[in-house]
Amino acid sequence: MKRAGIYIHVPFCRSRCSYCDFATGAYEGQLAERYVSALTAEISTFKLPPTPDSSAAHDAATGDMRANDQRTDAVCDVDTIYFGGGTPSLLTPAQVGRILRAVGERFRVASDAEVTLEMNPGTVTLESVEKFRACGVNRASFGLQTFDDEGLRRLGRTHTADDARRTLAVLREAGFDNVSFDLIAGLPGQTLAEWSRNMDDALALRPAHLSLYLLEVHEGTPLAEQLRQGRWPQPDADVAAEMYQLLIERTRAAGYEHYEISNFCLPGCEARHNLKYWTNAPYYGFGSSAHSYDGARLRWSNERDAARYVELMETCGAAIVETNELSARDAGAEALFLGLRLMRGVDLTEHRARFGTDVRSEYAADLSRFQAAELIRIDGDLLRLTRSGVLLSNEVFAAFV
Ligand code: SF4
Repeated sequence: MKRAGIYIHVPFCRSRCSYCDFATGAYEGQLAERYVSALTAEISTFKLPPTPDSSAAHDAATGDMRANDQRTDAVCDVDTIYFGGGTPSLLTPAQVGRILRAVGERFRVASDAEVTLEMNPGTVTLESVEKFRACGVNRASFGLQTFDDEGLRRLGRTHTADDARRTLAVLREAGFDNVSFDLIAGLPGQTLAEWSRNMDDALALRPAHLSLYLLEVHEGTPLAEQLRQGRWPQPDADVAAEMYQLLIERTRAAGYEHYEISNFCLPGCEARHNLKYWTNAPYYGFGSSAHSYDGARLRWSNERDAARYVELMETCGAAIVETNELSARDAGAEALFLGLRLMRGVDLTEHRARFGTDVRSEYAADLSRFQAAELIRIDGDLLRLTRSGVLLSNEVFAAFV
């Protein structure tokens, strides 16, 4: 059984960015304290579904997973912990320490586990990041977005490019050398030349890892309304695609490896936690809106609203609101399109051994269509996206959904 990852959701932000539709709300001290207690209770009372390969877990005749009524107190191995949000750096180091202790008491955490905390510029000081580090955090995922102050303003972010540089300096001073930057491309009105300068600024700081997001405009967000009112030009999908291409070229020239559709790293600095999602490994999520996966067929998720999550934990001791059991075919299809996000591709023999699906025959028509269009390549056992396939990946993935 692969080692699992732990995801901790922190649903608080200093203020709401104009494009955001995540499950987050404004930070409120009292709720945050109750939330941390609810989180630690959820972690301590966590029950593990039966292991995917245990005979008790599977009814050989029907393939039926009966995990819900067979959850156990078994201990499992964990080698990544990820605090995401929201803005986890709004929690105090003492609160983060309490959560990590709860994880350490319930799970067997590897001594070299990757422990990531998402941080937003301007929310930490040298003292707080030193304390985060002392309680076990060893990687920072840094919500930088862009070095363009006007772009930050349009996104409703509360920090400036200088805040970002200062926060990064503080992180490095505290010993964080494994830092990842989040960058957003395709901002309203952003030109290719501005994006290029932005990349120069980002690469000059030599982060270990870079994640790229293309701006998506979600209905119901202030940004969607501002665009409707014509306050900013509509984002241009073609320009965003050129920005993505440029980032691939520039990061490669700077010695970064493009290892996943939207992720780039210095050698050996992949995001180990995110690899759990792309390689179909188990992960267990705690907190409001957190999702979990047993590494086989079972997915479940928690109540989305933070206050309601706390209430459920305080009154019922559980906050799971949805459980889905995937069919063998769906589990295989999911593993396929998640695995194809990785540039190294999917090993078809391994895939067949794990899910019983012969991808070559099951998807024969789609595969030959994509090969003819040069969107995928099959080298021996390896199926992967080509460079043009990376740009049109959603089209390829749609065939497997
Ligand atoms: S900091 Fe992130 S999670 Fe919070 S409002 Fe902004 S985009 Fe959303």
